[in-house]
Order: sequence, then C-alpha cells, then structure tokens
Amino acid sequence: MSHTGRGILTIVSGFAGSGKGTVMKKLVAEHDNYALSVSATSRAPRPGEEEGVSYFFRTREQFEEMIRQDALLEYAEYVGNYYGTPKDFVFSRMDEGRDVILEIELQGAMQIKKKYPDTVLIFLTPPSVDELYGRLKGRGTETDEVIAKRMKRASEEALSIKDYDYLVINDNIDDCTRKVHEIIQTAHHEVRHEAEFIESIREGLEKYSG
Ligand code: 5GP
Repeated sequence: MSHTGRGILTIVSGFAGSGKGTVMKKLVAEHDNYALSVSATSRAPRPGEEEGVSYFFRTREQFEEMIRQDALLEYAEYVGNYYGTPKDFVFSRMDEGRDVILEIELQGAMQIKKKYPDTVLIFLTPPSVDELYGRLKGRGTETDEVIAKRMKRASEEALSIKDYDYLVINDNIDDCTRKVHEIIQTAHHEVRHEAEFIESIREGLEKYSG
C-alpha cells in the first residue's frame, strides 16, 4: 500500500491456459492489499464456477443493458461472448487503498491503458506453445472447436504483447505469483504513482524556505 493512500490498478492478461486464474487466486490469498475485480460475462458458467465469485453471469441482453447504462469500465467480445468490468467496485477499492487487479483480455486492457495511463499491464504466458495447448486440452472443460478458436485468438494476441509493461513466464505457480506481487509493489515507487506525495513534500518545503 502506498503512503499516498490510493491503490494501483493492474491488468493481468494472458493466453487461455496461461494459468493466470490460479496465480491471481494465490496472490489474493497470500496478500490482503489486493482486490480482484469480478467481471460480468455472457458466457455460460463452467462446472464449479460460482455466480458473483468467478463472474456475474448475464444474458447478452442484460449485458447490453449494462453497456447502455455506462456501468462498465471496459468491455470486449472474446470468442463469441461479452466480458466487461463493472465500474463501481474498481474505484471504490482503489480509494480505500487496495491494489485492484483486473484479469482481462487484450482489447479491454488497451481501452483501459488509453483512459488510465497509470495502469500497470502484465502479460502472463506459459513457457511454450505445446504447454499452452496441453493445459487447455487438459482442463477438459472446452470442446476441440473452442480450443482451436482460443489458440487462434492467442496467435493474434501474441502480436500485442509488446503493448504491455511486463511479461512473466509462468513455469511455476509460486515463482510467478511472487514476480507479479513484486512488479505491483515496485510500481508503488514509480514517481508517476507518487504525484500526491511529491506535491505534499514540495508544499512543505516551500513553507520552510519562506
Ligand atoms: P474465460 O472464458 O476463459 O473465463 O475468459 C476468456 C477471456 O476473457 C480471458 O482472457 C479473460 O481474461 C477475459 N476476461 C475476463 N473478464 C473480462 C473483462 O471483464 N473484460 C475483458 N475485456 N476481458 C475479460
């Protein structure tokens, strides 16, 4: 947490099968300064996914209503479904001093980077393409057709990794979680995230120098 009080917004993206969901859960479980945003989606729940925990599951119509109401910070279509970040949660948690993490895909990440340039963007990738395919297949929750679409999407996404700030290779969950934590905590010391503190020091110094 920064002494200026406000939390940092971080986006974590990664190919389907990059293990980002597992890393995020571990990060939140191990450190209490993080708040993980829960997205809305029009995709159907996978076995074991819970409403309001994994996602807010909505129909396409309900999702479009959220768009009309300007209730989303960003949204995108990914492999035929809508995904979006509800606005309220993100800013209220940041104001409380929590570091908010969005686990979102690339188009949404780019919308946020444009609107909020102070956001930290991290891209997670498995160590190899074979590993990526193996993890998707091994999950056993998607059809071959959906897996093929996700692989195609990953090859398009690979072109935009350069627009992120950090790349972390996930070959070990513990190491990867530690690296993501270090990146976010280091970001607190970037002068761009310390503007308020710098201003307060400057004002203080002015008083003493007459
Ligand atoms: P999945 O269907 O595997 O849960 O998610 C598919 C993709 O959608 C992942 O890359 C995930 O990061 C992304 N995603 C999840 N929530 C959001 C969101 O709120 N906005 C955007 N733009 N992407 C999201």
